[in-house]
Amino acid sequence: MERYFTKAPGFTAQRERFIEAVRVAGAALTEFQHPMRGPRGELLATDVALIGDPLAPKRFIVLSGTHGIEGYYGSESQITLLHSLQKRVLPADVCVVMVHLINPWGTAWLRRVNEDNVDLNRNYLAFDKPLLDNAHYEAFHEIYLCRDLDGPSRRRADERLATEIERLGLATVMSIVEAGQYAHADGIFFGGQHATWSNRTLRAIAKRFMEGAHTAMCFDLHTGAGAFGHAMLMAVAQETYPALGTSRSIFGPWLYTVMTGPAATTDSGIAATATGYTSQALLDSLPGVDLMQLVIECGTYDSARGHSALRDDHWLHLYGDPEDATGRRIKAALAEHFYPADRDWRELTQLRTRQIFERGLAALQAS
Ligand SMILES: [Zn+2]
Repeated sequence: MERYFTKAPGFTAQRERFIEAVRVAGAALTEFQHPMRGPRGELLATDVALIGDPLAPKRFIVLSGTHGIEGYYGSESQITLLHSLQKRVLPADVCVVMVHLINPWGTAWLRRVNEDNVDLNRNYLAFDKPLLDNAHYEAFHEIYLCRDLDGPSRRRADERLATEIERLGLATVMSIVEAGQYAHADGIFFGGQHATWSNRTLRAIAKRFMEGAHTAMCFDLHTGAGAFGHAMLMAVAQETYPALGTSRSIFGPWLYTVMTGPAATTDSGIAATATGYTSQALLDSLPGVDLMQLVIECGTYDSARGHSALRDDHWLHLYGDPEDATGRRIKAALAEHFYPADRDWRELTQLRTRQIFERGLAALQAS
């Protein structure tokens, strides 16, 4: 594993940058160690940084790495915010909570999913209740099990996917596949059959660092959907709730709302048909908190390219070797899709993320 992963974005280097920013900002740090190791044998953990009074009635919360590989953008956004906070004094009634890399395994191994091949943003469910039965996915499942990356069987799988896209349209196919499924652990967009380590850890973090607040604003940071370089502010929920109106009045036209449900649609690039989102989990876990639950989603390349990168990475997970030439090419394409090397992309997304944070923090302070 060593050769490729020493050149790729790295978990430990990213984590050390975050911890150093936490130290300089004078924040308190709590570590939640993950049971598994990274590709370099490194320790994996989710870290929580706290600036201010942990019992403060207002909490400003930033969460990174729900989708592991997207955590490089998320971590950089948190580091930038820490640098900016270090230069000022927060009001006594505001506490900033940063949850750094909630899916550390995915960040380290350059996967969107976690150690169980689970899409964490489909996993926040009550597993003692019936799960989403995505019957339409069944027709697609075999496409994602194809043993070959090229050759006749791959061409047949490609043709099947192309036929379905022609018949139903790309948006419909993606809404079926990306809705998530709970039947096939070897499938794509698998939501899991139990609460994963990251799910349990986030719930523990919410209980310890978010509960007890009167008002909170929380950002879950993502990349990979939307227009290149555009950081879109979203609210994602199954139903409307009082603080959504407050978010709308604070952010006005910046805010794009996605109501999720079995027949819901959106042109935002995320799956409105999915269940088990982080946003809904936090809203459900913090009933006593007036919570403005938000998402920032930074657009990169188009969705067909993204799907192809995810499909190849799924093949690599099932049958390949991330260290050989093919594996390295797939990992490089995936990293580029979720964290483009383009300097302007990085500058634009950081600028916009900072603007959103500043407006939110100012509104929370004034509330
Ligand atoms: Zn994401």
